[in-house]
Amino acid sequence: MRRQAPKINGETPFMPPFACSTIAHSAFAMLGLNCLLASSAFAEPPEAPWHRRPLRIVQTLLREPDVVGYDVDGVMRFVRESRANCLVINGGGIIDFFRYDSEMANPNPFLEDRDILAELSEACHKEGIKLLARVDFRGAEEARFRKHPDWFAAGPDGEPKPLQNGLRPTCFNGGYRNEYGIGLIRHLLETYRMDGVWYNSVHSRGACYCAVCQEKYRAATGESIPVLPDADDAFLGPEMARYRALKAQWGLEHLDRVRQAIKAFGDDRVLVGEVFGMFGVSVPLTGGIDVYTVSPYFDFLIGKAFLDDGQYPFLAGSTIRFLKALDPEKQAVLLTGAHRNSDRQIFEPPLELEGWLWEAIANGGSIWNALIAGSHPETFLDRRNPLATRIPFDFLARREQASMGMKPSADVKVYYSGATRERFSGGFAAAIQGAERVLLQRHIPLGFLTDNNFTDESLTGVRALVLPSAAALSDAEIERIRAFVREGGGLVADFQTSLFDEQGQSRGGFGLADVFGCDTAGEIKTTDRNFYQRIRRRHPVLASAGDTDILLNGARTLLCEIGADSGAQAICSYIGPIKSQPPERSWIGDADTDHPTIVVNAYGKGRVVYFANEIMRLCLEDGHPDFSDVLGDAIQFAIGGPPRIETDAPPSVHLALLENGAGAYALSLVNHTSAPWRPVRYRAPLEDITIRLDLGDRSLSDFEIWAADGPIQVERIDRCARIRVQRLQTFSSIAIYTKQNAP
Ligand SMILES: [Zn+2]
Repeated sequence: MRRQAPKINGETPFMPPFACSTIAHSAFAMLGLNCLLASSAFAEPPEAPWHRRPLRIVQTLLREPDVVGYDVDGVMRFVRESRANCLVINGGGIIDFFRYDSEMANPNPFLEDRDILAELSEACHKEGIKLLARVDFRGAEEARFRKHPDWFAAGPDGEPKPLQNGLRPTCFNGGYRNEYGIGLIRHLLETYRMDGVWYNSVHSRGACYCAVCQEKYRAATGESIPVLPDADDAFLGPEMARYRALKAQWGLEHLDRVRQAIKAFGDDRVLVGEVFGMFGVSVPLTGGIDVYTVSPYFDFLIGKAFLDDGQYPFLAGSTIRFLKALDPEKQAVLLTGAHRNSDRQIFEPPLELEGWLWEAIANGGSIWNALIAGSHPETFLDRRNPLATRIPFDFLARREQASMGMKPSADVKVYYSGATRERFSGGFAAAIQGAERVLLQRHIPLGFLTDNNFTDESLTGVRALVLPSAAALSDAEIERIRAFVREGGGLVADFQTSLFDEQGQSRGGFGLADVFGCDTAGEIKTTDRNFYQRIRRRHPVLASAGDTDILLNGARTLLCEIGADSGAQAICSYIGPIKSQPPERSWIGDADTDHPTIVVNAYGKGRVVYFANEIMRLCLEDGHPDFSDVLGDAIQFAIGGPPRIETDAPPSVHLALLENGAGAYALSLVNHTSAPWRPVRYRAPLEDITIRLDLGDRSLSDFEIWAADGPIQVERIDRCARIRVQRLQTFSSIAIYTKQNAP
């Protein structure tokens, strides 16, 4: 009997999934299909190392006094009840949680006459739980700093940098991180049965002028490091561009040294590190560490996203899709918490957290539950929802083997241009999330495509590419996009896409002008109030527009022109402003201009829609139908055929489709139907949702219900699998196995 978490404020934190085997049997009887209960229809993949399998991580980040009377049994009880397979515990660095015979050691003053890391690592080893040690080398307090001042970061005058949060900062090249830090990691792995290291706060802010950094800079450039005020805007300016590039390189070299030290203990010992969210711009640039570039050094990838970061509820899924685009072979882990990140002692609203976690899992993610409130939940001040991850972890555990090798199965990929993020960050995140929002609402299977992984293979099976104001594109990227469209791929782009090269240098016009069928007239208008778009001709991209001659405009609009020799069509044109006040003057005469806002073009075998305004950003920040419906219709038009998924599910249900490349799919539904306020305190159950998944040249052979809130039927109808979900409370997931049709 599964234990249910206690009720909280009248909310039920988690609904245990419906008894799956019952459904499977009834489906079996009804459909005559050989529904699988336990095993996959396909040969199991060879045993993957532990860090390549779904991860169910709990971290109890200890405060200093938490070691007093540290209750190893209580911690292990929490790990077991959570159904976790990995625990993260404090190692050392700022404060050491073990006795370390080193002049630089900084033992926790509350340490008792025992070795909790030894006890814990033995207990974890006995129960098959992986244990990672958290280390943090961002800085040291004054007393330790004085023992080796030459190991620390320095300002332009060569003097040590001022204290940050009471710590003398360090740099990637200095002795503190490299001699002391790596030595401490070796000691942890030698002394305890640890499975790896969680490197917290990897980044190092700003410029360092220590002797080592100066020497390395001089060796690379023949010059001294430029001296500028210690401010982020100075650091991010052009004078420091060369330094920033070198520093990012030094960051990678440092990580490589750390990684080698860990791998000397065996390939199964892992390095993972803290990097910031997928849309963070300033920290990667000032800190020299970016998930975008450091991912090859980590054994699994972590995206940090907490509910109280004030983000959109689908960010948990976005984070996983993004990490899967960076490296589809590695586990993508959502670093989040059952407690708030800003107010660490208090739990997150359970129903909202539940949707957050399922959103990550539906997209193929693993979960990391970070708690900073005591040694284990019985010691927490707030004990209302410590087992928040238990049911999601249980799901991951039960489906571990069957879900191996599953990756996002995308009809449409959203292009993530790292060069644009770095150079044109205004609106970058919103444009990407706006495109995602529309795709999710339309139930179009989506994924990311990152510019550092942009290969022909990354476009396999993709029907349309969406470029959310991808301003900075290289010649090679442009050529690959061109080839994709020429061969029949769809393309939807907006605003400044391809106006600059990857270094941010203006191209003087769109690099993709021939594909868009138009070019820029060179002027950006602010169109955030009282601007409109005049409909020039009816077209499928306006299928949902209805009875109107105009559409709303917003944000900024790039004035464009369609050349005389272009076969492109202007669907709408730029008009305005039509002033709101005084109302008697709320009119203009000739409302037409020659500047198109929506351009449809045919290029090779492909269909192209270009928007001169920031439609994707507006889909997130405004959400008006003149943005979200039109973008949705444009994507549908660019795809150029019937959708692979058809469903009557409302937009508040997110579908996620994974596939393993061998004919197995996992289709998941996450119900976000709730009252119009956050946090989610109520979730409306839905009845009778039908999904038709077009299997192309394959047909349904088997299926397996992975999670359900009620009966689910799966049947073969022509080339489709038709799935009927009779009740959806929160999360349902179905494995669909297919076989190649006979020729
Ligand atoms: Zn330095």
